[in-house]
Amino acid sequence: MVQGIWEDFLRIAKEEAGSRVVDTWFKVVSLYQWDSISKTVYLIAPNAFVKDWISSNYVDLLKLHLGRLFNIDSIKIVLIDGSKKNKKTNEIQNGLDNSVACLVPAKLDRPKTSVVKRVRSKSKCNINFNYQFENFVEGPNNSLAKAAAQAITEKPGTLYNPLFIYGDSGLGKTHLLHAVGNCIKQKDKNMSILYQTADRFVNEFINAIRFDKIHKFQMKYQNVDVLLIDDIQFISNKEQTQEAFFHLFNVLYDSHKQIVFSSDTYPQNIKGLADRLKSRLACGLVTDIHMPLLETKVAILKKKAELNNEDLPDDIAYFIASCVASNIRELEGALIRVTAFASLTCQPLTIELTKRVLQRTEEKKEQKIVDFKNIVKCINRQYNFDLSDLKSKKRNKNLSFVRQVTMFLMKKMTGRSLRDIGVFLGGRDHSTVVHAMDKINGYLVQNPHFKEELRRIEQEIRDRL
Ligand code: ADP
Ligand code: MG
Repeated sequence: MVQGIWEDFLRIAKEEAGSRVVDTWFKVVSLYQWDSISKTVYLIAPNAFVKDWISSNYVDLLKLHLGRLFNIDSIKIVLIDGSKKNKKTNEIQNGLDNSVACLVPAKLDRPKTSVVKRVRSKSKCNINFNYQFENFVEGPNNSLAKAAAQAITEKPGTLYNPLFIYGDSGLGKTHLLHAVGNCIKQKDKNMSILYQTADRFVNEFINAIRFDKIHKFQMKYQNVDVLLIDDIQFISNKEQTQEAFFHLFNVLYDSHKQIVFSSDTYPQNIKGLADRLKSRLACGLVTDIHMPLLETKVAILKKKAELNNEDLPDDIAYFIASCVASNIRELEGALIRVTAFASLTCQPLTIELTKRVLQRTEEKKEQKIVDFKNIVKCINRQYNFDLSDLKSKKRNKNLSFVRQVTMFLMKKMTGRSLRDIGVFLGGRDHSTVVHAMDKINGYLVQNPHFKEELRRIEQEIRDRL
């Protein structure tokens, strides 16, 4: 969830401060930890320069939006300089807010090095060196996708073309796309490989039109040997981009260049996608990834711990694995949370400590059982508007208000991203959801009756699970 929040923040910051600011300053920062007791977000910057620059220029932006995303009024931000190796007591610097009580860090080598490595490992082809087949744990949930991804690296463009991998968020699709890129590059360094997310592709296309650089844009994409497009569903409803993409697909496909896609759903189910594109996406091999069962989750945790030179006892691995049922990203998040807590508070990693740290995660697990449908049902009972009303473009006062209440509850009770909520409620933009959160937070402060009403609705949603 924390990772999802940081991604949401990046999207909002992009809109507010522009993609150059985000690319230069925020993309190299990672959200290290969220401490809900002290309401503090710990961010790791790759070096002192970035840390100082963000401290001087973007504190308000961080506080405003991370505050909204975590639903906290006075959030505290602590920036850590990830490059300082041995001055352990200075690792966590209260650079933004002197009133924050800092935890005493015991060893921060692991997060620090992984952050620096991640930044450096990005190259022009956008491939992240950290995502390899070797560190992708295979299980029944992903074995076909992994096998197909590995197979195409033998002779790109000849076997499964395109390869289409779909599944819910956080299950390893991006990891596999990068692994394909890394593996092909290792076999033949002359191969031209390009990884791109579909939303970036859309942005690039828009800019190409704006600045009259369509030819350059086409050249960039048509000249690759391997094209890896992540989250292709983001080109939904973008007709002109789809047109350009259709053309690009045909050029690459006809010249036997390998194309790999990821998506959150099967090609035919992508809404707002032209039929001819749907059939192109599905004309090679389509394979899915789903959530692993306990043993694979334990294996993934062990692998992640091993990569970070940490020893993870079996009982702790099983405990963490049984706590997290949503996706691998959250599984990783739980592991980081536990190991970071032990490290920052100088305590040994024990099952008791793990239970304490994940207690809140377990509470959230209960919340996760709440899904969008539970909320919509309850809203329908309470206000008499059903899902089609909520999704509709109608904007009468009552309906708009109920839609905002729905968005607010979805964010609060499911922890899903702003984008997911917007998409579910009729393909609305994430900024509409941010606006709804603000509005409802405002009503909650002004109107105690409304506060009580909302509390009752929340209670009812939980009671009816
Ligand atoms: P998706 O693109 O499906 O949303 P990602 O590829 O970003 O998911 O995966 C989320 C995190 O989970 C990444 O850190 C990734 O390395 C990790 N992960 C997912 N599946 C596996 C796996 N089978 N083995 C190891 N790590 C995994
Ligand atoms: Mg992904």
